[in-house]
Amino acid sequence: MEQSIKVNVTVIGAGPGGYVAAIRASQLGMKTAIVEKDRPGGLCLNWGCIPSKALLKSAELYEKLKKGGTFGLKADNVSYDLAAIVDRSRGISERIVNGVEYLLKKYKIQHIKGAAGIVSPKEVRVETEGKTTGIQTDHIIIATGTHPRDLPGIRRDGERIISSKEAMLLKTLPKRLVVVGAGAIGMEFAYYYSCLGSEVTILEALDRVLPVEDDEVSAEVAKSFKRRGVKIETGARVSSAVRNGEEVKIEYEVGGAKKTITADVTLAAVGVIANTDGLGLEKVGIKTYKNGISVNEHMQTSVPTIYAIGDVIGPPWLAHVASAEGVHAVEHMAGKNPHRIDYNSVPGCTYCKPEVASVGYTERRAKEEKIEYTLGKFSFRASGRAIAAGDADGFVKLIFEKKYGGLIGAHIVGGEATEMIHELVLAKNLEATAEEIGKTIHAHPTLGESIMEAALDSIGERIHGA
Ligand code: NAD
Repeated sequence: MEQSIKVNVTVIGAGPGGYVAAIRASQLGMKTAIVEKDRPGGLCLNWGCIPSKALLKSAELYEKLKKGGTFGLKADNVSYDLAAIVDRSRGISERIVNGVEYLLKKYKIQHIKGAAGIVSPKEVRVETEGKTTGIQTDHIIIATGTHPRDLPGIRRDGERIISSKEAMLLKTLPKRLVVVGAGAIGMEFAYYYSCLGSEVTILEALDRVLPVEDDEVSAEVAKSFKRRGVKIETGARVSSAVRNGEEVKIEYEVGGAKKTITADVTLAAVGVIANTDGLGLEKVGIKTYKNGISVNEHMQTSVPTIYAIGDVIGPPWLAHVASAEGVHAVEHMAGKNPHRIDYNSVPGCTYCKPEVASVGYTERRAKEEKIEYTLGKFSFRASGRAIAAGDADGFVKLIFEKKYGGLIGAHIVGGEATEMIHELVLAKNLEATAEEIGKTIHAHPTLGESIMEAALDSIGERIHGA
Protein backbone atom coordinates (compact mmCIF):
# COMPACT_ATOMS: atom_id res chain seq x y z
CA MET A 1 0.00 0.00 0.00
CA GLU A 2 1.32 3.45 -0.80
CA GLN A 3 0.25 6.84 0.51
CA SER A 4 1.57 10.25 -0.32
CA ILE A 5 1.67 13.44 1.77
CA LYS A 6 2.95 16.98 1.32
CA VAL A 7 4.57 19.04 4.10
CA ASN A 8 6.94 21.97 4.60
CA VAL A 9 9.47 20.14 6.80
CA THR A 10 10.27 16.47 7.28
CA VAL A 11 12.38 15.62 10.29
CA ILE A 12 14.10 12.23 10.26
CA GLY A 13 14.70 11.01 13.80
CA ALA A 14 12.75 12.01 16.92
CA GLY A 15 15.53 12.38 19.50
CA PRO A 16 16.16 15.64 21.41
CA GLY A 17 17.40 17.19 18.16
CA GLY A 18 14.58 16.03 15.92
CA TYR A 19 11.53 16.41 18.13
CA VAL A 20 12.60 19.87 19.31
CA ALA A 21 13.17 20.93 15.67
CA ALA A 22 9.72 19.61 14.75
CA ILE A 23 8.03 21.51 17.58
CA ARG A 24 9.81 24.75 16.67
CA ALA A 25 8.85 24.24 12.99
CA SER A 26 5.23 23.81 13.97
CA GLN A 27 5.41 26.92 16.19
CA LEU A 28 6.63 28.84 13.15
CA GLY A 29 3.59 27.71 11.15
CA MET A 30 5.26 25.01 9.06
CA LYS A 31 3.40 21.82 8.24
CA THR A 32 5.69 19.23 9.81
CA ALA A 33 6.20 15.48 9.65
CA ILE A 34 8.58 13.48 11.83
CA VAL A 35 9.77 10.00 10.89
CA GLU A 36 10.95 7.64 13.62
CA LYS A 37 11.34 3.88 13.56
CA ASP A 38 11.21 3.45 17.33
CA ARG A 39 9.49 5.43 20.04
CA PRO A 40 10.22 9.16 20.04
CA GLY A 41 12.86 10.53 22.40
CA GLY A 42 15.92 8.98 20.78
CA LEU A 43 18.83 7.54 22.71
CA CYS A 44 18.62 10.34 25.29
CA LEU A 45 15.11 9.69 26.56
CA ASN A 46 14.92 5.95 25.86
CA TRP A 47 18.43 4.67 26.54
CA GLY A 48 20.64 7.52 27.70
CA CYS A 49 20.38 10.73 29.69
CA ILE A 50 17.03 10.19 31.42
CA PRO A 51 16.98 6.50 32.40
CA SER A 52 20.64 6.68 33.45
CA LYS A 53 19.90 9.62 35.76
CA ALA A 54 17.19 7.52 37.41
CA LEU A 55 19.67 4.68 37.99
CA LEU A 56 22.29 7.08 39.34
CA LYS A 57 19.79 8.55 41.79
CA SER A 58 19.02 5.11 43.22
CA ALA A 59 22.73 4.36 43.58
CA GLU A 60 23.44 7.71 45.20
CA LEU A 61 20.57 7.34 47.66
CA TYR A 62 21.67 3.82 48.55
CA GLU A 63 25.16 5.08 49.28
CA LYS A 64 23.81 8.02 51.31
CA LEU A 65 21.50 5.78 53.33
CA LYS A 66 24.39 3.49 54.19
CA LYS A 67 26.10 6.54 55.68
CA GLY A 68 22.89 7.51 57.50
CA GLY A 69 24.66 7.17 60.86
CA THR A 70 26.84 10.19 60.10
CA PHE A 71 23.65 12.25 59.74
CA GLY A 72 22.26 10.95 63.01
CA LEU A 73 19.92 8.54 61.24
CA LYS A 74 19.32 4.92 62.07
CA ALA A 75 19.34 3.19 58.73
CA ASP A 76 20.56 -0.31 59.47
CA ASN A 77 20.57 -3.16 56.98
CA VAL A 78 19.94 -0.95 53.99
CA SER A 79 19.69 -3.04 50.86
CA TYR A 80 18.33 -2.78 47.34
CA ASP A 81 16.43 -4.67 44.69
CA LEU A 82 18.28 -4.24 41.39
CA ALA A 83 15.28 -5.33 39.32
CA ALA A 84 13.17 -2.63 41.02
CA ILE A 85 15.88 -0.01 40.39
CA VAL A 86 15.91 -0.94 36.68
CA ASP A 87 12.10 -1.03 36.50
CA ARG A 88 11.91 2.45 38.01
CA SER A 89 14.38 3.73 35.43
CA ARG A 90 12.38 2.17 32.58
CA GLY A 91 9.17 3.63 33.99
CA ILE A 92 10.67 7.11 34.11
CA SER A 93 11.90 6.79 30.53
CA GLU A 94 8.41 5.64 29.47
CA ARG A 95 6.79 8.61 31.20
CA ILE A 96 9.07 11.15 29.53
CA VAL A 97 8.65 9.47 26.12
CA ASN A 98 4.86 9.62 26.56
CA GLY A 99 5.31 13.33 27.24
CA VAL A 100 7.10 13.78 23.91
CA GLU A 101 4.33 11.86 22.09
CA TYR A 102 1.83 14.22 23.69
CA LEU A 103 3.85 17.25 22.52
CA LEU A 104 3.99 15.92 18.95
CA LYS A 105 0.19 15.63 18.98
CA LYS A 106 -0.26 19.02 20.63
CA TYR A 107 1.77 20.67 17.86
CA LYS A 108 -0.07 18.66 15.16
CA ILE A 109 3.14 17.08 13.93
CA GLN A 110 2.50 14.12 11.68
CA HIS A 111 4.33 11.21 13.28
CA ILE A 112 5.24 8.53 10.73
CA LYS A 113 6.64 5.29 12.07
CA GLY A 114 9.27 3.63 9.92
CA ALA A 115 12.71 3.97 8.35
CA ALA A 116 13.18 6.99 6.11
CA GLY A 117 15.24 7.18 2.93
CA ILE A 118 15.95 10.40 1.08
CA VAL A 119 14.94 10.08 -2.55
CA SER A 120 15.67 13.61 -3.78
CA PRO A 121 16.36 17.05 -2.22
CA LYS A 122 12.60 17.41 -1.64
CA GLU A 123 11.36 13.87 -1.24
CA VAL A 124 11.49 11.24 1.49
CA ARG A 125 10.17 7.68 1.44
CA VAL A 126 9.23 5.81 4.56
CA GLU A 127 8.96 2.07 4.67
CA THR A 128 6.83 0.57 7.40
CA GLU A 129 5.68 -3.06 7.46
CA GLY A 130 3.80 -3.49 4.20
CA LYS A 131 3.29 0.25 3.74
CA THR A 132 5.19 2.98 1.93
CA THR A 133 4.70 6.69 2.53
CA GLY A 134 6.03 9.17 -0.01
CA ILE A 135 6.62 12.63 1.49
CA GLN A 136 6.94 15.69 -0.74
CA THR A 137 8.66 18.31 1.40
CA ASP A 138 10.24 21.75 1.07
CA HIS A 139 12.94 20.91 3.61
CA ILE A 140 14.42 17.86 5.29
CA ILE A 141 16.20 17.71 8.65
CA ILE A 142 18.37 14.67 9.35
CA ALA A 143 18.54 14.01 13.08
CA THR A 144 19.34 10.30 13.20
CA GLY A 145 21.90 10.36 16.02
CA THR A 146 24.64 7.83 16.73
CA HIS A 147 25.18 4.30 18.00
CA PRO A 148 27.98 2.98 20.26
CA ARG A 149 31.33 2.47 18.57
CA ASP A 150 32.72 -1.06 18.51
CA LEU A 151 36.39 -1.83 18.98
CA PRO A 152 37.72 -4.30 16.42
CA GLY A 153 38.60 -6.88 19.09
CA ILE A 154 35.41 -6.51 21.11
CA ARG A 155 32.31 -8.25 19.88
CA ARG A 156 29.37 -7.28 22.03
CA ASP A 157 27.04 -10.12 22.96
CA GLY A 158 24.64 -8.00 24.99
CA GLU A 159 25.10 -10.19 28.03
CA ARG A 160 28.70 -10.17 29.25
CA ILE A 161 30.21 -7.82 26.71
CA ILE A 162 27.82 -4.91 26.68
CA SER A 163 27.17 -1.30 25.69
CA SER A 164 25.43 1.41 27.72
CA LYS A 165 21.99 0.15 26.68
CA GLU A 166 22.46 -3.26 28.30
CA ALA A 167 24.29 -1.65 31.23
CA MET A 168 20.99 0.05 32.01
CA LEU A 169 19.13 -3.22 32.15
CA LEU A 170 21.27 -5.64 34.18
CA LYS A 171 19.14 -7.14 36.90
CA THR A 172 21.97 -9.20 38.40
CA LEU A 173 24.91 -7.31 39.81
CA PRO A 174 28.22 -8.24 38.13
CA LYS A 175 30.75 -9.10 40.83
CA ARG A 176 33.62 -7.85 38.65
CA LEU A 177 32.94 -5.16 36.07
CA VAL A 178 35.56 -3.84 33.66
CA VAL A 179 34.67 -0.53 32.04
CA VAL A 180 36.55 0.26 28.84
CA GLY A 181 36.71 4.02 28.31
CA ALA A 182 36.61 6.76 30.96
CA GLY A 183 34.40 9.21 29.08
CA ALA A 184 31.02 10.32 30.46
CA ILE A 185 29.32 6.96 29.88
CA GLY A 186 32.15 4.90 31.36
CA MET A 187 32.43 7.10 34.46
CA GLU A 188 28.69 7.24 35.12
CA PHE A 189 28.30 3.46 34.97
CA ALA A 190 31.52 2.87 36.92
CA TYR A 191 30.03 5.03 39.67
CA TYR A 192 26.62 3.33 39.52
CA TYR A 193 27.97 -0.21 39.73
CA SER A 194 30.59 0.59 42.35
CA CYS A 195 27.91 2.15 44.57
CA LEU A 196 25.90 -1.05 44.28
CA GLY A 197 28.90 -3.18 45.23
CA SER A 198 30.61 -4.37 42.03
CA GLU A 199 34.40 -4.48 41.93
CA VAL A 200 34.98 -1.98 39.15
CA THR A 201 38.09 -1.50 37.04
CA ILE A 202 38.30 1.30 34.48
CA LEU A 203 40.68 0.98 31.55
CA GLU A 204 41.30 4.25 29.71
CA ALA A 205 43.62 4.66 26.73
CA LEU A 206 44.48 8.31 27.44
CA ASP A 207 46.43 9.60 30.42
CA ARG A 208 43.46 10.45 32.66
CA VAL A 209 39.76 9.90 33.29
CA LEU A 210 37.28 12.31 31.66
CA PRO A 211 40.00 13.43 29.24
CA VAL A 212 37.96 16.34 27.85
CA GLU A 213 37.80 17.99 31.26
CA ASP A 214 40.36 20.22 32.98
CA ASP A 215 43.35 18.21 34.27
CA GLU A 216 42.68 19.15 37.90
CA VAL A 217 39.07 18.04 37.55
CA SER A 218 40.14 14.66 36.14
CA ALA A 219 42.58 14.24 39.03
CA GLU A 220 39.91 15.08 41.64
CA VAL A 221 37.43 12.59 40.16
CA ALA A 222 40.09 9.87 39.92
CA LYS A 223 41.04 10.47 43.56
CA SER A 224 37.44 10.16 44.67
CA PHE A 225 36.82 7.01 42.58
CA LYS A 226 39.97 5.38 43.95
CA ARG A 227 38.82 6.19 47.47
CA ARG A 228 35.61 4.32 46.82
CA GLY A 229 37.64 1.31 45.65
CA VAL A 230 37.41 1.71 41.88
CA LYS A 231 40.62 0.65 40.15
CA ILE A 232 41.72 2.97 37.37
CA GLU A 233 44.36 2.16 34.79
CA THR A 234 45.16 5.01 32.43
CA GLY A 235 47.33 4.73 29.32
CA ALA A 236 45.63 1.33 28.99
CA ARG A 237 44.58 0.55 25.41
CA VAL A 238 42.19 -2.38 25.22
CA SER A 239 42.69 -4.63 22.20
CA SER A 240 40.20 -7.42 22.82
CA ALA A 241 37.47 -8.75 25.05
CA VAL A 242 36.59 -12.40 24.59
CA ARG A 243 33.85 -14.29 26.36
CA ASN A 244 34.77 -17.62 27.85
CA GLY A 245 31.69 -19.20 29.40
CA GLU A 246 30.58 -17.01 32.28
CA GLU A 247 33.67 -14.81 32.15
CA VAL A 248 35.23 -12.24 29.86
CA LYS A 249 38.97 -11.99 29.28
CA ILE A 250 40.10 -8.48 28.41
CA GLU A 251 43.50 -7.87 26.85
CA TYR A 252 45.14 -4.47 26.97
CA GLU A 253 48.47 -2.76 26.68
CA VAL A 254 50.07 -0.30 29.10
CA GLY A 255 53.39 1.30 28.19
CA GLY A 256 54.25 -1.49 25.75
CA ALA A 257 53.44 -4.27 28.26
CA LYS A 258 50.59 -6.67 27.50
CA LYS A 259 48.15 -7.32 30.34
CA THR A 260 44.94 -9.27 30.86
CA ILE A 261 42.09 -8.92 33.29
CA THR A 262 39.08 -11.15 33.84
CA ALA A 263 35.59 -9.85 34.49
CA ASP A 264 32.05 -11.11 34.79
CA VAL A 265 30.87 -8.26 32.59
CA THR A 266 32.69 -5.69 30.50
CA LEU A 267 31.14 -2.45 29.35
CA ALA A 268 32.60 -0.86 26.22
CA ALA A 269 32.05 2.90 26.25
CA VAL A 270 34.56 4.06 23.67
CA GLY A 271 32.62 6.66 21.71
CA VAL A 272 29.92 6.75 19.07
CA ILE A 273 29.36 6.43 15.30
CA ALA A 274 26.89 8.46 13.21
CA ASN A 275 23.71 6.73 12.04
CA THR A 276 23.80 7.38 8.29
CA ASP A 277 23.26 3.90 6.81
CA GLY A 278 20.17 3.56 4.64
CA LEU A 279 19.46 7.30 4.44
CA GLY A 280 20.55 7.51 0.79
CA LEU A 281 23.06 10.31 1.38
CA GLU A 282 25.21 9.40 -1.65
CA LYS A 283 22.17 9.32 -3.93
CA VAL A 284 21.40 12.99 -3.28
CA GLY A 285 25.04 14.06 -2.92
CA ILE A 286 25.19 14.87 0.80
CA LYS A 287 28.82 15.22 1.86
CA THR A 288 30.13 13.44 4.94
CA TYR A 289 33.35 13.44 6.97
CA LYS A 290 34.82 11.07 9.56
CA ASN A 291 32.32 12.04 12.29
CA GLY A 292 29.16 12.10 10.18
CA ILE A 293 27.37 14.60 7.95
CA SER A 294 29.14 17.87 7.01
CA VAL A 295 27.11 21.05 7.60
CA ASN A 296 27.67 24.80 7.44
CA GLU A 297 27.12 27.16 10.40
CA HIS A 298 23.35 27.04 9.73
CA MET A 299 23.24 23.23 9.80
CA GLN A 300 22.74 23.04 6.02
CA THR A 301 24.30 20.06 4.29
CA SER A 302 25.86 20.26 0.84
CA VAL A 303 22.25 20.03 -0.46
CA PRO A 304 20.70 23.36 0.63
CA THR A 305 17.15 22.04 1.26
CA ILE A 306 18.53 19.37 3.56
CA TYR A 307 19.78 20.18 7.06
CA ALA A 308 21.45 17.89 9.59
CA ILE A 309 21.59 18.36 13.36
CA GLY A 310 22.68 16.66 16.57
CA ASP A 311 24.96 13.68 17.05
CA VAL A 312 24.88 12.76 13.34
CA ILE A 313 26.97 15.87 12.52
CA GLY A 314 29.68 15.07 15.05
CA PRO A 315 30.91 16.49 18.37
CA PRO A 316 29.99 17.68 20.88
CA TRP A 317 27.64 14.69 21.07
CA LEU A 318 25.23 16.23 23.58
CA ALA A 319 21.44 16.31 23.70
CA HIS A 320 21.25 20.03 24.51
CA VAL A 321 23.47 20.83 21.53
CA ALA A 322 21.21 18.77 19.27
CA SER A 323 18.15 20.70 20.47
CA ALA A 324 19.87 24.07 19.93
CA GLU A 325 20.95 22.99 16.44
CA GLY A 326 17.39 21.86 15.65
CA VAL A 327 15.94 25.23 16.63
CA HIS A 328 18.66 27.01 14.66
CA ALA A 329 18.07 24.93 11.50
CA VAL A 330 14.33 25.56 11.55
CA GLU A 331 14.69 29.28 12.25
CA HIS A 332 17.20 29.53 9.42
CA MET A 333 14.91 27.83 6.91
CA ALA A 334 12.12 30.16 8.07
CA GLY A 335 14.36 33.14 7.19
CA LYS A 336 14.68 34.30 10.79
CA ASN A 337 18.45 34.87 10.68
CA PRO A 338 19.22 33.16 14.03
CA HIS A 339 22.46 33.76 15.97
CA ARG A 340 25.23 31.29 15.27
CA ILE A 341 25.70 28.62 17.90
CA ASP A 342 28.72 29.33 20.08
CA TYR A 343 30.21 25.87 20.61
CA ASN A 344 32.67 27.34 23.08
CA SER A 345 29.81 28.14 25.45
CA VAL A 346 28.21 24.71 25.64
CA PRO A 347 28.04 23.26 29.15
CA GLY A 348 29.19 19.67 29.56
CA CYS A 349 28.03 17.60 32.54
CA THR A 350 28.91 14.19 33.93
CA TYR A 351 26.55 12.88 36.56
CA CYS A 352 28.74 10.55 38.60
CA LYS A 353 29.70 11.58 42.13
CA PRO A 354 31.53 13.84 42.37
CA GLU A 355 29.52 15.57 39.65
CA VAL A 356 31.44 17.37 36.95
CA ALA A 357 30.34 20.37 34.94
CA SER A 358 32.29 22.74 32.75
CA VAL A 359 32.10 25.35 30.03
CA GLY A 360 34.71 26.90 27.76
CA TYR A 361 38.47 26.75 28.07
CA THR A 362 40.38 24.26 30.18
CA GLU A 363 43.66 25.52 31.60
CA ARG A 364 45.52 23.14 29.28
CA ARG A 365 43.80 24.61 26.21
CA ALA A 366 44.41 28.19 27.36
CA LYS A 367 48.12 27.31 27.62
CA GLU A 368 48.15 25.59 24.24
CA GLU A 369 46.55 28.64 22.62
CA LYS A 370 48.97 30.91 24.50
CA ILE A 371 46.15 32.88 26.07
CA GLU A 372 47.22 34.88 29.09
CA TYR A 373 44.88 34.11 31.96
CA THR A 374 44.28 34.42 35.67
CA LEU A 375 42.86 31.63 37.81
CA GLY A 376 40.44 31.63 40.70
CA LYS A 377 39.68 28.58 42.82
CA PHE A 378 37.52 27.73 45.76
CA SER A 379 37.30 24.40 47.53
CA PHE A 380 33.96 23.04 48.75
CA ARG A 381 35.84 22.07 51.93
CA ALA A 382 35.52 25.72 52.90
CA SER A 383 31.80 25.89 52.05
CA GLY A 384 29.47 25.73 55.05
CA ARG A 385 26.64 24.46 52.89
CA ALA A 386 28.76 21.68 51.39
CA ILE A 387 29.98 20.59 54.83
CA ALA A 388 26.42 20.62 56.20
CA ALA A 389 25.34 18.45 53.26
CA GLY A 390 28.13 15.97 54.03
CA ASP A 391 29.50 16.45 50.53
CA ALA A 392 32.54 18.73 50.73
CA ASP A 393 34.84 17.20 48.09
CA GLY A 394 35.70 19.18 45.00
CA PHE A 395 36.07 22.78 43.91
CA VAL A 396 35.15 25.58 41.55
CA LYS A 397 37.87 26.73 39.16
CA LEU A 398 37.46 29.78 36.97
CA ILE A 399 39.67 31.00 34.14
CA PHE A 400 39.65 34.68 33.11
CA GLU A 401 41.56 36.00 30.14
CA LYS A 402 43.93 38.75 31.19
CA LYS A 403 43.46 41.35 28.48
CA TYR A 404 39.77 42.24 28.94
CA GLY A 405 39.16 40.20 32.08
CA GLY A 406 36.24 38.12 30.77
CA LEU A 407 35.47 34.61 31.96
CA ILE A 408 36.64 32.07 29.36
CA GLY A 409 36.42 28.80 31.26
CA ALA A 410 34.63 27.42 34.29
CA HIS A 411 34.98 24.02 35.94
CA ILE A 412 33.07 22.59 38.87
CA VAL A 413 33.67 19.23 40.45
CA GLY A 414 31.55 18.11 43.40
CA GLY A 415 28.38 19.42 45.00
CA GLU A 416 25.57 20.15 42.61
CA ALA A 417 27.99 20.96 39.80
CA THR A 418 25.55 20.10 37.02
CA GLU A 419 22.97 22.53 38.38
CA MET A 420 25.49 25.25 39.31
CA ILE A 421 27.22 25.53 35.95
CA HIS A 422 24.52 27.62 34.24
CA GLU A 423 25.34 30.79 36.16
CA LEU A 424 28.80 30.47 34.66
CA VAL A 425 27.56 29.72 31.14
CA LEU A 426 25.57 32.94 31.31
CA ALA A 427 28.53 34.80 32.83
CA LYS A 428 30.74 33.55 30.01
CA ASN A 429 28.20 34.53 27.36
CA LEU A 430 28.02 38.01 28.84
CA GLU A 431 31.83 38.14 29.12
CA ALA A 432 31.51 38.82 32.84
CA THR A 433 34.70 39.70 34.71
CA ALA A 434 35.92 38.31 38.03
CA GLU A 435 34.85 41.52 39.70
CA GLU A 436 31.33 41.32 38.27
CA ILE A 437 30.88 37.69 39.38
CA GLY A 438 32.66 38.21 42.71
CA LYS A 439 30.69 41.33 43.64
CA THR A 440 27.35 39.74 42.75
CA ILE A 441 25.77 38.93 46.10
CA HIS A 442 25.22 35.18 46.40
CA ALA A 443 22.86 33.83 49.05
CA HIS A 444 24.36 32.33 52.17
CA PRO A 445 24.63 29.46 52.77
CA THR A 446 24.67 28.03 49.26
CA LEU A 447 27.08 26.08 47.10
CA GLY A 448 26.79 28.99 44.67
CA GLU A 449 28.82 31.15 47.06
CA SER A 450 31.80 29.06 45.99
CA ILE A 451 31.50 30.60 42.52
CA MET A 452 31.60 34.08 44.02
CA GLU A 453 34.60 33.14 46.17
CA ALA A 454 36.46 31.56 43.21
CA ALA A 455 35.94 34.77 41.22
CA LEU A 456 37.19 36.85 44.16
CA ASP A 457 40.16 34.50 44.52
CA SER A 458 41.34 35.42 41.02
CA ILE A 459 41.61 39.08 42.06
CA GLY A 460 43.10 38.35 45.47
CA GLU A 461 39.92 39.20 47.40
CA ARG A 462 38.68 35.78 48.51
CA ILE A 463 37.26 35.88 52.04
CA HIS A 464 36.97 32.20 53.05
CA GLY A 465 39.16 29.15 52.55
CA ALA A 466 42.72 28.31 53.44
P1 NAD B 1 33.79 9.33 24.94
O1 NAD B 1 34.38 9.57 23.61
O2 NAD B 1 33.40 10.47 25.78
O3 NAD B 1 34.80 8.45 25.80
C1 NAD B 1 35.38 7.28 25.31
C2 NAD B 1 36.69 7.03 26.02
O4 NAD B 1 37.16 5.76 25.60
C3 NAD B 1 37.77 8.03 25.66
O5 NAD B 1 38.27 8.62 26.84
C4 NAD B 1 38.80 7.20 24.92
O6 NAD B 1 40.12 7.65 25.15
C5 NAD B 1 38.57 5.81 25.47
N1 NAD B 1 39.00 4.72 24.59
C6 NAD B 1 38.84 4.65 23.25
N2 NAD B 1 39.38 3.50 22.77
C7 NAD B 1 39.88 2.83 23.84
C8 NAD B 1 40.56 1.59 24.01
N3 NAD B 1 40.83 0.79 22.97
N4 NAD B 1 40.93 1.22 25.25
C9 NAD B 1 40.68 2.02 26.32
N5 NAD B 1 40.05 3.19 26.21
C10 NAD B 1 39.64 3.61 24.99
O7 NAD B 1 32.57 8.34 24.66
P2 NAD B 1 31.42 7.71 25.57
O8 NAD B 1 31.70 7.83 27.03
O9 NAD B 1 31.19 6.37 24.96
O10 NAD B 1 30.18 8.64 25.27
C11 NAD B 1 29.73 8.83 23.95
C12 NAD B 1 29.27 10.26 23.74
O11 NAD B 1 28.08 10.51 24.44
C13 NAD B 1 30.31 11.24 24.25
O12 NAD B 1 30.53 12.26 23.33
C14 NAD B 1 29.72 11.77 25.48
O13 NAD B 1 30.08 13.10 25.77
C15 NAD B 1 28.22 11.64 25.25
N6 NAD B 1 27.59 11.42 26.54
C16 NAD B 1 27.44 12.45 27.38
C17 NAD B 1 26.91 12.24 28.63
C18 NAD B 1 26.76 13.38 29.54
O14 NAD B 1 26.76 14.49 29.08
N7 NAD B 1 26.63 13.15 30.82
C19 NAD B 1 26.56 10.98 29.05
C20 NAD B 1 26.73 9.96 28.19
C21 NAD B 1 27.26 10.19 26.93
